[in-house]
Amino acid sequence: MKSMTGRLKELLTTPKDNCLACGECCRQFSWHLKASENDLERWRRLGRNDLLERVNRLGWIWVDPVTAERLPVCPFLEEIEPDTAICSIHAIKPDICRAYPTAEQYGQCLRGLQVK
Ligand code: SF4
Ligand code: SF4
Repeated sequence: MKSMTGRLKELLTTPKDNCLACGECCRQFSWHLKASENDLERWRRLGRNDLLERVNRLGWIWVDPVTAERLPVCPFLEEIEPDTAICSIHAIKPDICRAYPTAEQYGQCLRGLQVK
């Protein structure tokens, strides 16, 4: 039988094949991501002002909605165990997060895994 953590991971991350849902890529890279036009359009359509207010005028994510300062780590990364983290906006996360790891990274994530 699957543990609660296993079920949570399955429900909330639906990780790509081989992804360990360790969250390391998000911890390392989430301070310098940009939202795409598609992301903005999707979030507007869904009325997700909580996401839109975390995008600055140049498209950088994620920022503090009050100070507009860029954040060191994505506020939607939810640490559920020491080496397990989930994306709390998985279904509508930014395109750049969906695309990771890209051909630029040779399709290989920070953990050295081919995840697709
Ligand atoms: S670093 Fe790799 S294994 Fe860890 S969450 Fe990112 S893609 Fe998955
Ligand atoms: S939106 Fe989700 S996938 Fe993207 S950096 Fe944040 S936690 Fe990671």
